[in-house]
Amino acid sequence: MCTCHEHAEQPARRDFLRLAGVTVATAVTASLLPTHALAASPAEPPKPENQLSPQAAFDRLMAGNRRYIEGVARRHDFLAEREALVSAQNPFVAVLSCADSRIAPEYAFDTGRGDLFAVRVAGNLVNDDGLGSLEYGVAVLGIPLLMVLGHEGCGAVEAGVKAVRDKASFPGHIQRLADAIAPAVKATLDKPGDPLDNAIRQNVLDNMRLVKERSEILRTAIDEGRLKLVGGLYRLADGKVELLG
Ligand SMILES: [Zn+2]
Repeated sequence: MCTCHEHAEQPARRDFLRLAGVTVATAVTASLLPTHALAASPAEPPKPENQLSPQAAFDRLMAGNRRYIEGVARRHDFLAEREALVSAQNPFVAVLSCADSRIAPEYAFDTGRGDLFAVRVAGNLVNDDGLGSLEYGVAVLGIPLLMVLGHEGCGAVEAGVKAVRDKASFPGHIQRLADAIAPAVKATLDKPGDPLDNAIRQNVLDNMRLVKERSEILRTAIDEGRLKLVGGLYRLADGKVELLG
């Protein structure tokens, strides 16, 4: 069996280097990425079952949500998982979700450790740090699926609605959240139905668009079929994730 460095290197790392170009990759190598991501990785990923096509990853994600809805979530052996994941990770999905404590994407999709790469911020907003995290997940870890996940009764979106409709202002950095959500509120203000629900749905769609607009790495991965981008809405009462977009 070949044990040379080139062949022991994980495909995701080779893709990243090709994607980013040698110059950028060298700079990233020197400054940003943890050494474990750049060292010669074991040929076998810690979770071989997570090496999935974008569509297979999506099917697995939604099957996990169905188990969660029905209350038949699997028992996760954290003891064995901890040991397998000491040296590396290869999650099969990245989720950009709200920070709301009622959502918990790992539970909502019945995933174990090392399966789901979570980026969470109130209002499930795309920002620079979140984009960097998602780019790392896709370009370095090789994640094939990205979901932007909003939810019913989102307080951050409600702040955006109040800021637009009632000219409300909020203390500290909360205003930044309200301002970031304002475009989704304005776009749906005149539509029939519940203004908050409409804005929550539009905010998911807006942030899916921003993922592609603002990240060349993620856009290229989508265009090349290496990454599937989907939107979801988590329902509080039954835990169902409704697909959007
Ligand atoms: Zn929320």
